[in-house]
This record gives sequence, structure tokens and C-alpha cells, in this order.
Amino acid sequence: MSETATLIDLDAGIRPQGMGEPEKPSLIGLGRERLQATLADAGVPEKQARMRASQIWHWLYVRGVTDFSQMTNMSKALREDLANRFALTRPDIVEEQVSVDGTRKWLLRFPARGAGRPVDIETVYIPEEGRGTLCVSSQVGCTLTCTFCHTGTQRMVRNLTSEEILAQILLARERLGDFPDAHTPQGAIVPKDGRLISNIVMMGMGEPLYNFDNVKEALLIASDGDGLSLSKRRITLSTSGHVPNIYRTGDEIGVMLAISMHAVRDDLRNELVPINRKWPIAELLDACRAYPGLSNAKRITFEYVMLKGINDSLAEARELVRLLKGIPAKINLIPFNPWPGSGHECSDWEQIETFADVVNRAGYASPIRTPRGRDIFAACGQLKSASQRMKKRDRDSADASAA
Ligand code: SAH
Ligand code: SF4
Repeated sequence: MSETATLIDLDAGIRPQGMGEPEKPSLIGLGRERLQATLADAGVPEKQARMRASQIWHWLYVRGVTDFSQMTNMSKALREDLANRFALTRPDIVEEQVSVDGTRKWLLRFPARGAGRPVDIETVYIPEEGRGTLCVSSQVGCTLTCTFCHTGTQRMVRNLTSEEILAQILLARERLGDFPDAHTPQGAIVPKDGRLISNIVMMGMGEPLYNFDNVKEALLIASDGDGLSLSKRRITLSTSGHVPNIYRTGDEIGVMLAISMHAVRDDLRNELVPINRKWPIAELLDACRAYPGLSNAKRITFEYVMLKGINDSLAEARELVRLLKGIPAKINLIPFNPWPGSGHECSDWEQIETFADVVNRAGYASPIRTPRGRDIFAACGQLKSASQRMKKRDRDSADASAA
């Protein structure tokens, strides 16, 4: 491992070209039925559409191919016809950085949609002992304004499409060499063990439950057993507390749930996590209690960012434990990751440990989350901060030269 963060030298081929609207629609991110219907609309005979959809599904999600010509179990004529109508392109990689701790961050650019401009988002890969987690973004910016979160200071630009959410997983697997060789005989299956990306967390930029339909479609594709095959037990969706859509997540998606709790009283949570004004703590916890399938083996994660002098007293630790009584829960204490101008400080380490002791004594194990990738601004709540600053610097120098 090198001692400084590395900026990967990208090939000319994946440098951003400056993208307008995508030329052709993509087949990535369409659920099975939509894929089948799209093929039928494109002239694939009705009787064949189901089989063709399964074949394409396999190539896209098991093999990770990006070119119709590689889909060797379909006729050349069909492959050419599909290539003329549809695209399978990956987003452009604007920047790829590797932290000293092995965390990897991609700044990705997606084409403009409608009247908008191309958008940039970040995806982070966190390797750990025995597993690797991909932190995926759901929106460009966020409509919410949690005081400690850098994404909350950014203008909400738009929701990501299901294609763009999935594309983050496909691109990361490709860059990490995590797809089986595209040239192995047909019938390759996703290996059960040894995959670099074993877990997905919807904890990147944005509030996933304000983009419910696209997140749902992407996660159902990611967990499909004949495709990417990521078990729903290994996919965690984090929400700041959109109560009606927590019920829908349980009923319609069935992945693991994480709640950005951060405060134990409504008056403080109203400040820190403003969505609380709409859905206060009692309603949020009712939705958690009703989450389907909870057990000791399937718990809700409660995230709690440690803010010095704000939410880190021992009385608050005890209240947290009291509030969560009866809910199969894990508590994740997150040391606050600072960013310029946040106005918050991270709690002292000693305070975090005593807070953790109270939580531990109540039966919750190893709850402090080690910050990862701080040197490349990849830690929770820091996404886009470095690139934003870079843009500001560019803007400043442009302003200076215009003056
Ligand atoms: N919008 C969703 C998911 C993205 S944020 C949500 O709020 O749950 C992922 C996690 O990082 C959340 O728990 C969020 O509160 C936390 N977080 C945000 N900014 C942070 C910061 N500066 N330091 C530590 N954690 C932060
Ligand atoms: Fe949005 Fe989550 Fe950040 Fe709050 S913590 S501003 S909901 S991304």
C-alpha cells in the first residue's frame, strides 16, 4: 500500500468528452418486464422477447458486457439491430482516487437529461476484512439540509435514474475486475464467495426514499438471483426518515434498513435532521417496529453522528437505548467527518468511547464506525466536497482572468 492517496491515470477512452443528451436509450436499469416490452417494441418477435430478455440480462448483469457484439448467443443481425437502437455505455469517469487505506472513490459523469446539464456524482468502494462495500448515490445533491452533511449544502439537481444507480455498481465491478471473464463459456455464474463487492449501501449522495421508484427498480435488479445476485441481506438503504416510504421499502423492496437517527429529542432532531419536522421520532420508530422480517439476525441499523456538545451526552446515550427498546437494532456511532464551514466539531474520542460504553452495556456490540478514505474526501457526508472546491477554484481563476 502506498503512503499517499493515488490519483489513477485514466486512459483517454474514459476521460469525459462533455456529454449532451444520450444518443440512444440504454437497456440497463429496465426491470425484466420493461426490458421484454422494450425489445418487443423494437421489433423482436413477441414469442422470442422473453428469451432474448433473459439472454441480455445475463450478459449485462452476470458478465458485465458493454457491447452487443459480445452477446455471442444471439444472431449477428439481431446484435447489429440492437446496437443501432440501444446503448450499453458506462458513465464517464472524471476522476478515480485511491486512499492510503484502500478506499476508492470515483467521480462519475452522466449525460444531460431533458433540459438539464451533464451531472457529476460520487461512488465509494470500501474494502474490509472478508467483505467489500460499495456506497452508492441516489440523487445529485439532496433536497434536505441536515446541518452536519456536506451533500445537504448542495443544490438538489435531479434524481438519478435506475440506470444511473445500477451503472455505479456495474462500473465499480468493472474497474475492480469483479466480473467473471466475458469469454468463459456460456453459463458462467456469479461465484458465491470471493467477490470484491459483496455489499451495497445506499449511503452516498441524496435521500434514496425521495427517489423511491428508481431506487426500487435498481435494487430489485441488483438483487436478482440470475443477475448481479447481491443478496437483499447485503444491501442496506439508509434514510433520514421518510416514514411512508419506509413502509413501502419493507413491502416492495425488502432490503436492510438504516435510519439516520442522530438525536433522541424532537427539538434537536428538528434542527439536525429537518425531515423530522414532517415525521417526528415517534412516527419514525413506529415505522421501524413495523418493518417486516426483523429478528436478531435481521436488525435495523441506527446511525448516530457524534457532534461535540450537541448530541453526545451520556443522558442522550441512555435515552437512545430506551427509545430503541424492543426493536431489533444495531447502533452505529459515526465520528463526525468535518468539512469547511460546517460549524460542527467531532466529539472527543473519550466522549465517543463513554457514549459507546453505555450503548454496549445495553447489549449493542462494537458500534463505532472507523472513518474511511478521509484523505480522498470519501468519508460519510464529505462526498463532492473536494470536487466542489476544485470547481470554485476554477471559477475564481476564470473570474480573475475575465476581470
Ligand atoms: N440521505 C440518506 C443517505 C445518505 S447519508 C441519509 O441521510 O440517511 C449516509 C450517512 O452519513 C447518514 O447517516 C448521514 O447522516 C451520515 N453523514 C452525513 N454527513 C456526515 C458527516 N459529515 N460525518 C459523518 N456522517 C455523516
Ligand atoms: Fe440528505 Fe442524507 Fe445528507 Fe441529510 S444526511 S442532507 S438526507 S444526504
